[in-house]
Amino acid sequence: LLRREGGGRLLQLEGAAMSDMRLASSIRAELITALQQGQLHVCYQPKVCAESGRPLSAEVLVRWESPLLGHLSPATFIPVVERAGLLSHLTDWVLREAAVAQLALVKKGLPPRLAVNIGASEFTPDLPARISRIFADYGASEHLLEVEVTETSVITDTRQADSIVKALHARGIAVALDDFGTGYSSLAHLQACTVDTIKIDRSFVQRVAESGPDQKIVLGIIGLAKMLGLETVAEGVELESQRRWLAENDCNTLQGFVISKPLRFDEYCQLLQAWPSS
Ligand code: C2E
Ligand code: MG
Ligand code: MG
Ligand code: MG
Repeated sequence: LLRREGGGRLLQLEGAAMSDMRLASSIRAELITALQQGQLHVCYQPKVCAESGRPLSAEVLVRWESPLLGHLSPATFIPVVERAGLLSHLTDWVLREAAVAQLALVKKGLPPRLAVNIGASEFTPDLPARISRIFADYGASEHLLEVEVTETSVITDTRQADSIVKALHARGIAVALDDFGTGYSSLAHLQACTVDTIKIDRSFVQRVAESGPDQKIVLGIIGLAKMLGLETVAEGVELESQRRWLAENDCNTLQGFVISKPLRFDEYCQLLQAWPSS
């Protein structure tokens, strides 16, 4: 059914576009092998202080290079993995990668904070204990961890969401609302549980340096976050003009291609080493 192009891109045979369902079942079958054969890896995208540019931490992003399916974006395969009920395997694997990376950063005397993405179906009451168990296995410190929760995952059961966030906080784990502003009820999330950080979605950041509604929305989000005592991170900052505008308008932290693409671990260490510790 599938053949790989030279560049590793997915090639669809028989001229017809492969249906989502067939892609889903291929991904399902392949993921098991991928986890066993080490086809997955993670990269690290820096988050920097908007004012000084100093790197503060990194987001751990999963990558999958499948010999059969080629390079797959997490945006494509995470939802399939989630529907197949396999996301917990992937999340546990990513958490172990984060624990190992944290230990290496500590050993090198580099800033060891890392953030891991948690999918909708993973934001369940067993999550805090799962993280604790994995970090304890490696002797890593969970208080150096942040979880990024996509907005759509939090709200289904507000009371439960709040108690999960509290259990994470009790362990010193920070919580960020990812892709803020794109969910059904962004403000209800802030009402329901006390997160630490709002990650302003890339779709608002794209036009933030132009006067228009997006700029006013971002100003509103930053103002709201300040009043609630929350940190703001802008994601998907691609232009110098956006970086400048966000820094001037009190967004705390920036992430995006203008600062750095997601990096291999050794590249991330090099970036950190360029900043002497104060
Ligand atoms: P996200 O958490 O919102 O991550 C940001 C995505 O935007 C990443 O895509 C990143 O590479 C990309 N990005 C960063 N800066 C820029 C920029 O300046 N411009 C543009 N155009 N894009 C930028 P990626 O790595 O493909 O990940 C996509 C989504 O997949 C993530 O969105 C996250 O929701 C999910 N994901 C990634 N890794 C994991 C994981 O380990 N577990 C779970 N559950 N989800 C993950
Ligand atoms: Mg994220
Ligand atoms: Mg995001
Ligand atoms: Mg996003």
